[in-house]
Amino acid sequence: MRMKPRIALMSALVTIGLLAAPVAQATTPKLDPRPSTAKLTVELHKLSLLSHGKIRISPIGRSNENRPVWAARVGHGKTKIQYVTQQHGDEPLGTPAALEFLRTVGVGNSPWQRKLLSKVTVDIVVRANPDGHERNWRYNYDPTATPEYGEAGKGYDINRYHDPDVAPADNPATEAGLVQRRHAAFRPDIMVDYHMQGRYRDAAGREITASTLWPTHPGVAVDDVNFAKQIAVLVQRSINGAGGNVSQYPGGDYQGIARNGYGLLGSGSVLIELSDIPHREQSQITDALTSMLAIARAAADGSLHTIDPTRATAIPPRGPALPGTTEEHEAD
Ligand SMILES: [Zn+2]
Repeated sequence: MRMKPRIALMSALVTIGLLAAPVAQATTPKLDPRPSTAKLTVELHKLSLLSHGKIRISPIGRSNENRPVWAARVGHGKTKIQYVTQQHGDEPLGTPAALEFLRTVGVGNSPWQRKLLSKVTVDIVVRANPDGHERNWRYNYDPTATPEYGEAGKGYDINRYHDPDVAPADNPATEAGLVQRRHAAFRPDIMVDYHMQGRYRDAAGREITASTLWPTHPGVAVDDVNFAKQIAVLVQRSINGAGGNVSQYPGGDYQGIARNGYGLLGSGSVLIELSDIPHREQSQITDALTSMLAIARAAADGSLHTIDPTRATAIPPRGPALPGTTEEHEAD
């Protein structure tokens, strides 16, 4: 059928790419960076329905204030990947990225989705710390506790309570115990923990959009550290490829940090810290999503294992805080 001239022009412009970007922008809805836990619950149920059950959702327990801590699982492949978002309540952007990951891989039935889901099983703890989210603070909610790691009057720093020597039943940080149990039941090959950091620049003065790190506890097996380094290199490549700028993260060696604790337990364990850049929140969510997809795809097609782990040490260090912003005192 002959096109009307106007439509033909539009079609030609789209074909040569001139209209592709504006069209994409106009049709991509903004993602809610901080959905309430009630809204998150609704969104997860919607995704489960839209995926015709391919996305399996279940609460892995309740927070101290009786909010659900949700996990979602998709795929049935041999290689097991676990993502954890928002252990620190005021570091939200991994959570909307997790919802978009589930939508991207789980809703629809295209050949690439079927292939991916036949190779990997991805389990996501979506917002490990709903009480901290509610208060927009780092800790869980346990105001009568006097935590070794955390703040009296507020609660525990969940990301100091993944010590493999502490059984979940003895874990004073309720939500950390829930993640420990989920990890122990799932035994993932890959464990990636999504956080947020302040604003920093690299040596050239360019703003760093995300930082990454592998286990640094000396007890983690060399093979497991090397696998984590392969994942970190992939994280850098995928986020830089999407327009970001990834550095190493200056994290500590303590075994209660998830990155170290789950490394000690044999997972390829990696931390990702998205920078808290107010005007870049949508891009930060899509960069986190990009890393989630890249890890799943590279694990599925085996290319993850072909990455040279020594390249991780070439990821540039995180530079100084951006002028007018403050250096963080607490890591991971
Ligand atoms: Zn954090």
